Parts: sequence; structure tokens; C-alpha cells
Amino acid sequence: MIELENITMADYKRYLKQTKTIVFPFGTIEEHGSHLPLNTDALIIREVLKKVSSKRKFFLAPLVYYGVCTTTGGHPGTIGITPETLRRLARDLIQDAYRKGLRNILLISGHGGSLHMSALKETAEVLIGSLKGARIAVFSPYDLLWKELAALSETPNDSHAGEIETSIMLYLAQELVKGRAAEEFPQIPKPFIFEDYTKYWKGGVWGNPGKASREKGEKAVQLMVDSIADVLGRVGKP
Ligand SMILES: [Zn+2]
Repeated sequence: MIELENITMADYKRYLKQTKTIVFPFGTIEEHGSHLPLNTDALIIREVLKKVSSKRKFFLAPLVYYGVCTTTGGHPGTIGITPETLRRLARDLIQDAYRKGLRNILLISGHGGSLHMSALKETAEVLIGSLKGARIAVFSPYDLLWKELAALSETPNDSHAGEIETSIMLYLAQELVKGRAAEEFPQIPKPFIFEDYTKYWKGGVWGNPGKASREKGEKAVQLMVDSIADVLGRVGKP
């Protein structure tokens, strides 16, 4: 594993001869019901990428803990940033990584929020034309695996802090899971935008955490590790 934060300048130069690939992981500090910690998205992507690092050679950048949170933005504990801030941060990270000789740049997010993902994707779309020879990928494993994860879940329409995310946390960090929040499927009046959704979404859960299990979590993590390893295996090739 090449964790960028723990290596020296000399190590960097040496490893750069072996790989031109860097992964920037993105998480959130965001409510995940009454039973999961605020860093759930960050913890999951960090642990999954550590597992991927035994299969592929790449620089693993320090995690970006803050992300764009919309529907959970009014809930206690969520501390988010605006899409504008995320775009600027992602732009600077991509450009400086490129300047330091990296050519395959992956932004991988443990948070699948649509505005959060679109801010990252927009940044890559705007930059790609100006970075000669660069390969950039922007994704959340939940985007790649929605079919497989839906098949693993007993709950239809399972999402935020629900069956699958709770299962993954049971597998990766059981000691941080505080019981199980109640099943919840919020009815948010469409197509309106609100500053605070807590009125419509009291528990901050989308799905049924009661159906979660460590076994499902292990399977979900394996799927995530394999799908990210697959992208990393293809990234250096045209
Ligand atoms: Zn989450």
C-alpha cells in the first residue's frame, strides 16, 4: 500500500516509476440515522480502498472528509460544504497531481449524493481537455453496483443508512454501530427544495436497518473491492 501521507519525497519519486495512478477518496460528515456514525461514508470508502490496495498498485491520497449534503443538511451533526467548494478543491487536487507526474486520477466517493457526484464530475469534464495524456474517473461504488446491491438487499428501495449501508458498517466497524434505527421511507413533497428536510425525514434513514447483517456487509464490501480493482486494472490502458 502506498499511502501518500506516510511516504517521503524520495519514496514518491521511486513509486512514481511503478505507478502513475492516484486515488482520491471522498466521504462526508453526515447523519446516518440514530445508529451509524457521522463518518460512515468516509470510513466505508477508506476501508474498502485499503482492501483494494492489496490487489492493485496506486497512490492512496488522504481522505477528503467533507462533501455536499443536501437532504441531510438540516439534520443534527451533518457538516457539509457547497458544490462550489468541492469543485474548487477537486480541481486543485487533480491539477496538482497531474503536475506531479500522475496521469491516472480517480476520484472515488463513499457518498453517492447527486449534487456531490455532479460537482466532482463537472470538474473532471472541464479539466480533461487541458490535461494531455490524463485518464480521469469519477464514481461511487454505489453507482457501479446498484443492481448487485439491490439484489443483496431484502428491502426494496434501500438507501441512506438502510439495510446495505448498516450491513457494511457491521462488517467493517461493528463497534461503531449503536443498535438499529427504525425502518423509514420518507415522503418528501416533490418537486420542491427545502432548507431543512427533518420535518419529512425525522429518523434520517432510508430503508430498513433491521434487515442488516454482517454477512451481507461482507458480500457488499467484496463487490465494492472487486469493482474498484476492475476500474484500476483498466485505467492505465487506452
Ligand atoms: Zn452514507
